[in-house]
Amino acid sequence: MTLNTETKPATLLLPRWIATAVPGQSLLTSQGVLIVDGLIREIAAQAQLLASYPDAEQIELADHLLIPGLVNLHCHAAMSLLRGVGDDLPLEQWLASRIWPLERELLSESFVYDGSLLAASEMLRAGITTVNDMYFFPEAGIEAMRVAGMRVSAGLIVIDFPSAYAHHAEDYLRKGMAIRDRWRQDPRVSFCLAPHAPYTVSDAVLEQLGVLSAELSLPVHMHLHETAFEVEASLRLHGLRPLQRIAKFGLLGPDLIAVHAVHFNEADMAMMAAAAAHVAHCPHSNLKLASGFAPIDALLKAGVNVGLGTDGAASNNRLDLLAEAASAARLAKAVAGDASAFSALEVFHALTLGGATALGLQDRIGSIEQGKQADLVAVDYSTLDAYPCMDPLSHLIYVCGREQVSDVWVAGEPVVRMRQPVSLAFNQQIDRLRSRLPLWQNQVVSALNGLDRSKLV
Ligand SMILES: [Zn+2]
Repeated sequence: MTLNTETKPATLLLPRWIATAVPGQSLLTSQGVLIVDGLIREIAAQAQLLASYPDAEQIELADHLLIPGLVNLHCHAAMSLLRGVGDDLPLEQWLASRIWPLERELLSESFVYDGSLLAASEMLRAGITTVNDMYFFPEAGIEAMRVAGMRVSAGLIVIDFPSAYAHHAEDYLRKGMAIRDRWRQDPRVSFCLAPHAPYTVSDAVLEQLGVLSAELSLPVHMHLHETAFEVEASLRLHGLRPLQRIAKFGLLGPDLIAVHAVHFNEADMAMMAAAAAHVAHCPHSNLKLASGFAPIDALLKAGVNVGLGTDGAASNNRLDLLAEAASAARLAKAVAGDASAFSALEVFHALTLGGATALGLQDRIGSIEQGKQADLVAVDYSTLDAYPCMDPLSHLIYVCGREQVSDVWVAGEPVVRMRQPVSLAFNQQIDRLRSRLPLWQNQVVSALNGLDRSKLV
């Protein structure tokens, strides 16, 4: 059969296995994926596809598992430029004595663009095709992700203190809405309202966001119940737990992405489940900042959808979602005291369709299904470390590392081949970035040296 491909040639991927992430569907063997015009046109036996589409470009992936592009459900991409600036500090000190003073000093549009480009380079090569980002100057973040060819859910950040980006909450919102207007037609860009956290956003702003979210059907991306201190402070100041407080303003619903959800009690989890809200689980950030252990098994059993996030590189310190998955799977078992908790299959769902569902993008991405966007990742199992292999999906969570990600496609477009980014425009931007990174490093070091030492720990 000859395809009428007006804009892009058809591509036929021929992997050893396919893990589709379609609920209830088991691993496919000796099947192929036909990509036409950026979409998954057909999934069928390789022999049948080869016979039907002899003109399609054929990509042999004889030792590979093909999976949907990974969804990083929580990131501050630009903070890659602050990697390692405040290690071994608890969250409140990390924020108050390092991150916020450094951001006051360094924040600019070019900081966000270069930092986001650095993050995109790391994420793409780790198989992350969609990132849910939250940072200042979100338009610079969008531009960097688009040069990389990635999909971005841009957080329209709102916080109750001034920054180089905006003066006050109203200003943040106005700028965010203007960015949304400029980019909403781009098929790889979507948006979230992104109030930073309950402790940095006032009641009046939360109320306004509740109205906006309902009017515009925008997801709400917010740090929530990250530390015990946050919950105690909310009870002291407002007489309510943070989740109860945002619920008062209509922010607890199917559009809510609660980032961290570490200090949830049973009532919190029941509220989340009843509202069909989502959790972005970021185990490495929680471990590194000693925030605690998110009750993932209990959340799943309550029926809450869970995705995985890396958080920013300043609290991780890498943007490696497969590593998060490996830790999340093990950690959930220890926390639940149950080795069957957060199974490899459940973690795989969180990495893909779970994250896509939280972003409201489940009809377009998150699984390998006919008609969906061809956001695909090939993981190379030819390395000796992957032998023997009884269950490729179990290996993906417990054995594989991001170094095994060989090829990545977004909307059918190859963005990484043989572990290297392929876009000329992106590689040119990365070359330019390389020349600027020593300057950024000098600026970060000089800003660190300028911090009031008496306040540093
Ligand atoms: Zn965060």
